[in-house]
Amino acid sequence: MKEETTAIHAGLDNPNGGVTTPVDLSSTFRQDSLALDGFAYSRLSNPTVASLEKQLAALEDATYALAFSSGMGAISTTILGLLESGDEIIVSDDLYGGTQKFLDTIAIKLGITVVRVDAVHSVNVANAINDKTKMIYLETPTNPLLKIVSLHDICLVRDINLISNPLIVVDNTFATPLGQDPLFWGADIVLHSLTKYINGHSDVIAGAVMLNDKGLKDTLFATRTYMGTCMNPFDAMLVSRGIKTLPARMNLHEAGANEIAIFLEGHPMAENVLYPGLRSHPQHNIATQQMDNYGGMVTFTLKGDTDAVQRFLDALKIFTPAVSLGGVESLIEVPYFMTHGNMSHEEKDTLGITENMIRISIGIENIDDLLKDLTTALQAAK
Ligand code: PLP
Repeated sequence: MKEETTAIHAGLDNPNGGVTTPVDLSSTFRQDSLALDGFAYSRLSNPTVASLEKQLAALEDATYALAFSSGMGAISTTILGLLESGDEIIVSDDLYGGTQKFLDTIAIKLGITVVRVDAVHSVNVANAINDKTKMIYLETPTNPLLKIVSLHDICLVRDINLISNPLIVVDNTFATPLGQDPLFWGADIVLHSLTKYINGHSDVIAGAVMLNDKGLKDTLFATRTYMGTCMNPFDAMLVSRGIKTLPARMNLHEAGANEIAIFLEGHPMAENVLYPGLRSHPQHNIATQQMDNYGGMVTFTLKGDTDAVQRFLDALKIFTPAVSLGGVESLIEVPYFMTHGNMSHEEKDTLGITENMIRISIGIENIDDLLKDLTTALQAAK
């Protein structure tokens, strides 16, 4: 089946013949024998959540999926479930702020060493591998700089090194399963904040992990059970509904983002426009190799100071100033103060996150309306 069909039909499980999976709110399930069998208790698993997991696995072309109460639930369960004191994790330097904070506070406290590298250059990853390296953790495109990391090159670095055999974990939230297939390139685990494109309607906080290895899946299932990070059935129903339109939405997000990136590139108030689909993007060739959809995120620098940024935000009528991304509505944010507000100035400076950098999540509204809104706001910023 093609992705559009899979998104709608995979995982459907309704004994009454309904065309959607029913929401089963039971916390516990009748047991007819002494050995706990099937569904037992919804912190372990639940029929509605399990149905969504089949849908998610099919979408990512993976054998297994596990659904979590948030993207951070998926991330923390994966890292804590698979690493132990003394292990090292190599991470790309431009990670989601919550993941960075989790590593810098909780993982470090438990004796896990975090090694940060610019993974755009795979040699940096190669040089960082030692006999304690147990995991390489990546985002691509990164947030907010939309850097593209070559999944082929990183997997090759791992495969040919003779020092250790780290797991490769990829946060695929920005690209979605339709935009990029890390398991195909050799990653072991794909993670998502379902809160973003996969649910797509800004009304759920949820996460998922997709993978092919049964041993890893069993470990993560047990860790999820004891950390209490399983998804609840209501959210599973909402995410399942959102997935049905994901392929259609992603086409609209990409088309809109492409037009807006081109518009901003030609606008005198904008500079450093970053979008993986633009020829000017520093890693456009890698993006073309590994992405089937360049996504709906665009980052640019507004010419002017923070007062100009404020005037720009104040003049917007359709774009909502807010964190998060991937919903049907267009959102806009200033990473320096908002999503990356808890990083130090020095860290942001090193990465190149400035006070006038703007990140946009292009929704699926009419593109002419979006362009008009941006035109007015850019004029107001002058
Ligand atoms: N990964 C990425 C790339 C994100 O942008 C986010 C949230 O913004 C997360 C993970 C965390 O997901 P959640 O907010 O669902 O816990």
